[in-house]
Amino acid sequence: MTHSVLIVGAGPAGLALAIGLAKAGIAVTLVERQAEDELAEPAFDGREIALTHASIAALKRLGAWERIGADAIHPLAEARVFNGASPLALSFAPDRSGTRQLGSLVSNCDIRRALFAAASEFPSIELVSGIGVARVATCENEARIWLDDGSDRAASLLVAADSRFSAIRGQLGISARMNRLGKSMLVGRVAIERDHGHVATEWFDHGQTLALLPLGEGQASAVVTLPDGQAQRLAGLDEDAMGAELTHRFARRFGEMRILTPLHLYPLTTTYAHRFITQRSALVGDAAVGMHPVTAHGFNLGLTGTECLSRIVESALRHELDPGHSTLLRRYQREHRAATWPLYTATNAIVGLYTDERRAGLLARQLSFRAARFAPARKAVSRMLMQGA
Ligand SMILES: Cc1cc2nc3c(=O)[nH]c(=O)nc-3n(C[C@H](O)[C@H](O)[C@H](O)COP(=O)(O)OP(=O)(O)OC[C@H]3O[C@@H](n4cnc5c(N)ncnc54)[C@H](O)[C@@H]3O)c2cc1C
Repeated sequence: MTHSVLIVGAGPAGLALAIGLAKAGIAVTLVERQAEDELAEPAFDGREIALTHASIAALKRLGAWERIGADAIHPLAEARVFNGASPLALSFAPDRSGTRQLGSLVSNCDIRRALFAAASEFPSIELVSGIGVARVATCENEARIWLDDGSDRAASLLVAADSRFSAIRGQLGISARMNRLGKSMLVGRVAIERDHGHVATEWFDHGQTLALLPLGEGQASAVVTLPDGQAQRLAGLDEDAMGAELTHRFARRFGEMRILTPLHLYPLTTTYAHRFITQRSALVGDAAVGMHPVTAHGFNLGLTGTECLSRIVESALRHELDPGHSTLLRRYQREHRAATWPLYTATNAIVGLYTDERRAGLLARQLSFRAARFAPARKAVSRMLMQGA
């Protein structure tokens, strides 16, 4: 029997998996609702993705990294976290001083463009774009999808890479923990007057969380998290008023801030699927684990998962096994859970602690912050951020 894989969603996770599987020697059909030209030249969406060394190595293996221009890659030397107005910082830096950076910042649209270009080189990847998957079903022998125009396709394995709001996940009968946080993140590029020193800085302030991600000289990405209503009001301001408000919210730490790109609004929802697999199907990317962006690990973990699944399918093909076999899928679930659950829960705990505005919460926050400055946990996080260095 000739095996093949159906992937729903050509976001960064779907594209990375398609390339990984094509390299493993299996035919892939990738179905994406967006049109092909939107995939080839994705619009800027405000997101600057902090990539770990492990992710950069993975993107190199996929043939995507070299397609990203040097001027689109920004070194991330260190990350500092502040609690309110306190001058004490939690610093996450490479453990071997001066030798390596924590990782690199690259725009989400540049990552998507590079992955799409790399995927286009493989004749064994069939792209079906500009049409959505309406329905899916699986049985003992195959997985089947029906497109919006009623046509259908079958394969040995179906993979849902259709975002944290995955409709395919629901159709497969997989439920997910889903937390709508009632807060939104506003992200976009700004010009700043003071040197960022390639340090990412985050402030857990009262009523707001702020971050500044270092880009080129005099440029940064401003990230502002606010209750939904306040974030929508800020998003509605004109450029001058928004620049003035950001300058004020960031307490002039970087001088005057000027808006360079429109700010994009992301209502925050975290998700974790109760299972990553079911009969002849698997979830990858945000469809499996939708992280809070505060620890900058959604796509990094997505790549860990797509590499894991590609490796398992490759080994199945080498041993002439069916890549949709439940034993293999269970292995993917086990490994990806182990790779994601600790960071997912730790991230949610950090968000809960540092955004709790009640008196007891503020005290717990101060105490834990002081303790964390000396705890081995800080070293462990630095090591995690340096993955693959
Ligand atoms: C503000 C912000 C900052 C972030 N910063 C970082 C960071 O620093 N580091 C990091 O690692 N991660 C970060 N992330 C997370 C990262 O952006 C996501 O994890 C990643 O984009 C998810 O990719 P995905 O392919 O799983 O899903 P998506 O990018 O959501 O793609 C899903 C695709 O599926 C398609 N689709 C959906 N339904 C269907 C259907 N029925 N039929 C066909 N196609 C369908 C959609 O059109 C879409 O193209 C950040 C996220 C945000 C919001």
